[in-house]
Amino acid sequence: MNRIPLIAGNWKMYKTTSEAQSFISALGKEIATTSRLVCLAVPFTSIEAAVEAATSTPMTIGAQNMHDQIEGAFTGEISARMLNGSGASFVLLGHSERRQYFGESNALICRKLQLALQEGIIPFLCIGELLKDRESGNYEKVLKSQLEECLQGISSAQAAQLVIAYEPVWAIGTGKTATPEIAQAVHYYIRQWLEGRFGEGYAEKISLLYGGSVKPDNIASLMEQMDIDGVLVGGASLDVKSFSKIVNYI
Ligand code: PEP
Repeated sequence: MNRIPLIAGNWKMYKTTSEAQSFISALGKEIATTSRLVCLAVPFTSIEAAVEAATSTPMTIGAQNMHDQIEGAFTGEISARMLNGSGASFVLLGHSERRQYFGESNALICRKLQLALQEGIIPFLCIGELLKDRESGNYEKVLKSQLEECLQGISSAQAAQLVIAYEPVWAIGTGKTATPEIAQAVHYYIRQWLEGRFGEGYAEKISLLYGGSVKPDNIASLMEQMDIDGVLVGGASLDVKSFSKIVNYI
């Protein structure tokens, strides 16, 4: 197994462009020697400045969303082509906040995912069950239909470009982290499913991230798990001190 640890931050609707620049410059000093992959999903308005600020640092800059058409009369929207033009390398798709507050369906996420791939942007597909699905024991069924529907029509070659983040909705922004054992069990399930869908050898290569209240004090125990290759961090990615501790976990 040779998957490089991937630590991604999701800034959500926080930070102006100048705050983003200061953050990246300060974080760059703290993580200068890291061998880990460090990704930051920043607001659209800061992508270009963040890409420039991240030059000569280990950071890769991406976006948090995009539209499902390449262009058109969609006031206020941003396309995969625009993301590409502004220097974004990846995009979060299907984040639970997009599903919950903006009604995003698996079919919509699938269309976005195909366009992102077409435009050379790496999709970070987010999936995860609600608390009621966890409590009813229905979570594998929910995850399976998210995977099936979001990845419909995706070939094995295209799937090789993906990152998948498992983010149990009950653990996002709540302070409740899935235990490392719960997270590992789900990551194992996802990897097996991917192996079945995309063929032998595929699942060994893909990076599976865990997200949900990751903090400096729980990162190491999560990363110890065999099928957890990295993390997607919300709240704790907004502060240089806490995010650098997460990147530099031992
Ligand atoms: C997220 O936004 O993807 C997330 C995991 O948030 P938090 O770390 O704050 O739970």
